[in-house]
Amino acid sequence: MTELLIKGGTVYTPEGPREVDVHVTDGVIANVGPSLVASAAEVVNATGRYVLPGGVDVHVHSRDPGFPEKEDFASLTEAAAAGGVTVVVDMPNTVPAVDSAGVLESKAALAHSKARVDFGLWGLVRSSSTSKDLEEMAAAGAVGFKAYLAYSFSLSRKQVLYSPGVDDPDLEPPADYGTLARLASEIARLGLPLAIHAEDPAVLSSFRRPVLTYEDLLESRPPEAEAVAIAAAAAVARDAGAHLHIAHLSSALGLRAAEDAMRIGTNLTLETCPQFLLLTADDFDHAGAHMKMLPPIRSAADRDALLDGLMRGVITLVSTDHAPHTDDEKAQPFVDAPAGSPGVQTLYLSCLQIAKDAGDVWLAPRWVSEAPARFIGAEQSKGAIAPGFDADIVVVDPNARTHVTPGEMRSRQRHGALEGKEFDFAIEQVYLRGERVGAGAKARGRMVRPALVMR
Ligand SMILES: [Zn+2]
Repeated sequence: MTELLIKGGTVYTPEGPREVDVHVTDGVIANVGPSLVASAAEVVNATGRYVLPGGVDVHVHSRDPGFPEKEDFASLTEAAAAGGVTVVVDMPNTVPAVDSAGVLESKAALAHSKARVDFGLWGLVRSSSTSKDLEEMAAAGAVGFKAYLAYSFSLSRKQVLYSPGVDDPDLEPPADYGTLARLASEIARLGLPLAIHAEDPAVLSSFRRPVLTYEDLLESRPPEAEAVAIAAAAAVARDAGAHLHIAHLSSALGLRAAEDAMRIGTNLTLETCPQFLLLTADDFDHAGAHMKMLPPIRSAADRDALLDGLMRGVITLVSTDHAPHTDDEKAQPFVDAPAGSPGVQTLYLSCLQIAKDAGDVWLAPRWVSEAPARFIGAEQSKGAIAPGFDADIVVVDPNARTHVTPGEMRSRQRHGALEGKEFDFAIEQVYLRGERVGAGAKARGRMVRPALVMR
């Protein structure tokens, strides 16, 4: 039996911040209260520190299996641990794509052999997916399903590809609104979220152009594509009673479409990402291709609308869309550099900073831990410092600063969109189920499965 006693910190509890101690027994929080005593415990002095529930990033790309030169579950979860994220939820567009229970189970075994923190897995919705495919993935532990509107599926490579307008018999057409309509009632029955990459293919097709500059990127991926996709998918989801989730919300127009859908009763959740809250297109001058991603980082008005949506509680969770490549790939000319940036390591720090700047630092654990834990159906074990919960705990020093530099990054890609940022916080200690996770930590990660399937 291992025991841990974290004393003297300001603990973020489900009732808000409290000056209390936290007693952990065998990886589970046993007690939270003032002046706790446990003679056999290892004592952690957290005086002057914040004691926060571990982060849950519901949108990461491990690249594993498929592209180990970009990232794998070991490097992903080392980066996560370094940033106070104790659960990563991996998107299904690894190779082979996670489109069946069998692939999901193989990926779970692979992740289990390498993961330093806990993990969950998304399943893929293809245009050819059946209700049975989804039911079996749910039974295998998928946290939900992701549909990439506008992204085809290579039958030979078992890979999700962005390849608009290509007439190739190897490419299965993207999942579309018809696919969602066909599967929405099954998804509602399974009680799992349906996440979409919300860019409408028809809008994208009208705005297609060579993407030589950042302006081209913005023009090729207009906010109308996001708004139309949200409105259309919401119409389908609402009728079936399915829970629709919008991944990486990036625009004011998209937010407005989502709010319209919520107002008429759609079960809709929104996630946005630190890069959309901290950067604008103007940052391209110094960030360059490191901030090339899809959807793109847009205007100051978009950033402000997203911040406002977060403060009003319309956007409830912040994830990263952590999507590393190799530094060599990202150093290519803008037109060739692949889209995506690492982000999991800076999620918690970014959100603490955004929340502090907005006047209430305690919003950060809600966006990064409480809300995403509930979202993945883990609200009884993750996302809170309370008796009975897993002791996934992050000790943060609110009087130390963190400068985002390549040398500190644990992902394979050392450079990223937020390079150079400074945060008024430092992650000091991270515990996964009561044990410290630091550099060179063992692969102790376990799969997190939704507690309630088939309601
Ligand atoms: Zn993504």
